[in-house]
Amino acid sequence: MAYQTINPFTNEVVKTYANATPEEIENALALGDERYHAWRQEPIADRAQILHRIAALMRDHKDQLAKIATIDMGKLFTESQGEVELCAMIADYYADHGADLLAPTPITTQATGDAEIEKQATGIVMAVEPWNFPYYQIMRVFAPNFMVGNPMILKHASNTPGSAAAFEQLVNEANAPRGTFKNLFLSYDQIGDIIADPRVQGVALTGSKRGGQAVAKAAGENLKKNSMELGGSDAFIVLADADIDEAVNLAWRVRLYNAGQVCTSSKRFIVADSLYDQFVAALKEKFQAMVPGDPMDDQTTLAPMNSKRAKEKLQDQVDRAITGGATVAYDNEPIDLPGQFFQPTILTDIQPDNPLFYEEMFGPVAQVYRVADDQAAIDLANNSELGLGGIVFSGDPVHGKQVAQQIETGMVFVNTFLSSLPELPFGGVKGSGYGREMSSLGLMAFVNEKLVVTAQKPDYQNGAGGLVIL
Ligand code: NAP
Repeated sequence: MAYQTINPFTNEVVKTYANATPEEIENALALGDERYHAWRQEPIADRAQILHRIAALMRDHKDQLAKIATIDMGKLFTESQGEVELCAMIADYYADHGADLLAPTPITTQATGDAEIEKQATGIVMAVEPWNFPYYQIMRVFAPNFMVGNPMILKHASNTPGSAAAFEQLVNEANAPRGTFKNLFLSYDQIGDIIADPRVQGVALTGSKRGGQAVAKAAGENLKKNSMELGGSDAFIVLADADIDEAVNLAWRVRLYNAGQVCTSSKRFIVADSLYDQFVAALKEKFQAMVPGDPMDDQTTLAPMNSKRAKEKLQDQVDRAITGGATVAYDNEPIDLPGQFFQPTILTDIQPDNPLFYEEMFGPVAQVYRVADDQAAIDLANNSELGLGGIVFSGDPVHGKQVAQQIETGMVFVNTFLSSLPELPFGGVKGSGYGREMSSLGLMAFVNEKLVVTAQKPDYQNGAGGLVIL
């Protein structure tokens, strides 16, 4: 596959990159392995300093990095700037808290001696990442594993090679030791070869079901621990006691941010019968007000989608939904600009037998459903093959939380954005994958939680009666 930046606003081929050679791959594995062994002997405090330096460099180069991401995949420049800042926050968080979170955990035990769980590195992590947050997706794996002492090899999406190269340059500029991080422009087969290599001990993928299944299969065949951060078709539930203006004010933002290309974008709006008509009308007004244009221009509010292929896939999904019985409540007309723009669209009357009912729509399309009561909203939200996140909107936070607790996903937020912050675990259940990134949970993803029991003097007696010597 070709690694290429094609600016989705202009359709210009900006730069093409050569695929990795076998020598480059072997070099990355050899240096990564050397680094893994070196880090086992080095104090974690040294890595914390470097990670803070990476955060500072990201902030120093914020605009330059943001522009690279916007040209790679089209998102609004202001959103790219926000992404770079979030990456710096993640780096600072793990630099500040990594050592404490990785401290040994003592266990009270009947065994002779002191027992503790040590948190040790395991080896190189192979990360396969998507284009939609071209820096943040890398940082979510890089920062925690750097503190643990696991080097990282990155295979980024083929349409965001500029961001991948910029991230690598930044790590080098921070004087991270060689072997810390290597970006490689890999084919799918080469990913499989790397996963099979014994120097690699962890595999992280964020992406689609298709990519997840292929990479998880390779990891499974090689018995490599893996985490899968896959798609979502998150529900945004508006309960009957919600303030409709506040709900809509949140709804349009969470659907259209990043041109609707967020795994945790609200995609299915499930609205109480009494508020449904008002909700659809108000959402339509918000969608109408969007201004498509140059994502570098701060007057633009609607960015192009990331690629021609993504736009065509979304249009095909909308067409199939309509054929399957959906109503277009708004608008689905072409936008008269050369870039990969997709007019925000509202679909209603989607029944469970619609071929789109169980598909993730990864772009600016809102599906709106009418429900009779809370239980119907919960049942509809849970009638999904995916289980990533969700939002519940209610005039009463206690009521909202009661509903949130019944949603079968990895994350639910009540009356607020589903926000990604370093201290909050991120991940899903069901078809949305397994494992968590970010927070202390993400730090432990590829850690050897190793039991060490130390008797103060030799003990040949089975002191605590009934113990079995294994
Ligand atoms: P994708 O096609 O699966 O691509 C993601 C990564 O996997 C890319 O680097 C891609 O490389 C690689 N890949 C794809 N097929 C592969 C295969 N057979 N073998 C090895 N590598 C493979 O995903 P996408 O459609 O671009 O990304 C959007 C999806 O990601 C959505 O479903 C979204 O919800 C999900 N997502 C999930 C999260 C989360 O945290 N849960 C976050 C963001 C996005 P190429 O680019 O070279 O094909």
